[in-house]
Amino acid sequence: ILQMSEVTKKYGDHTVLSQLSLSVNPGEVVVVLGPSGCGKSTLLRCINGLEDIQAGKILLEGEQISHQKGDLSRVRQKIGMVFQSYELFPHMNVLQNIILGPVKAQKRPKREVVEEALQLLERVGLLHKKDAYPGELSGGQKQRVAIVRALCMQPKILLFDEVTAALDPEMVREVLDVMLSLAKEGSTMVIVTHEMQFARAIAHRIVFMDEGQIIEENDPESFFTCPKTERVKQFLNLFT
Ligand code: ATP
Ligand code: MG
Repeated sequence: ILQMSEVTKKYGDHTVLSQLSLSVNPGEVVVVLGPSGCGKSTLLRCINGLEDIQAGKILLEGEQISHQKGDLSRVRQKIGMVFQSYELFPHMNVLQNIILGPVKAQKRPKREVVEEALQLLERVGLLHKKDAYPGELSGGQKQRVAIVRALCMQPKILLFDEVTAALDPEMVREVLDVMLSLAKEGSTMVIVTHEMQFARAIAHRIVFMDEGQIIEENDPESFFTCPKTERVKQFLNLFT
């Protein structure tokens, strides 16, 4: 569903992604690991069309994301992204935050979108908060709303960038559980996380990045039990 081929991304003369290739199949959950600064967030931002790239190609369902001159918004609507910070609009309540994109950008009928939003809120255990404002929610609740907001756009692929990194430990679980249930239902996801247990539980494939390149990829079992490179062994040692 997603094909990146030999993507190079530079900031000035600093190369952040170096001829990186990655494909994601429908229904696949890919977890991206790697040290701080290796380019994980940049990778997601490139997939989402938030960054221009200097070389290579990114295709979503065969449609070019990179180097597209005109309107990116149509292909970008197929991509749901959730960040470390929730980025909900503080002056809008939960329901308004969720339906904004589908109604305004996708021009879907409001009644239908509200219906879907309420169902999704129920699923993540937040139906009772539909009229609350972001300031009245806990971090874990805000992050679940952010996930619902992404889902309500009916994206083909979901990108998660360290969505639990800013949360208190007791709120991490509730967010990870939502992601696990999405994975079970066959959502296509690319996840950046530092939660190793979670990575192992949710991933179909682990991709390890260092200095803007993928240096190892494997199924989670093999990745964690018999890493192929010294670099990955070193990295995993930090977590044990
Ligand atoms: P972390 O685990 O700390 O989130 P990361 O793997 O997500 O790290 P990126 O945020 O992708 O790393 O950054 C990769 C490199 O690109 C870093 O060296 C960073 O300093 C640089 N970088 C990121 N954004 C910019 C920018 N807007 N301008 C210039 N350099 C940038
Ligand atoms: Mg990052």
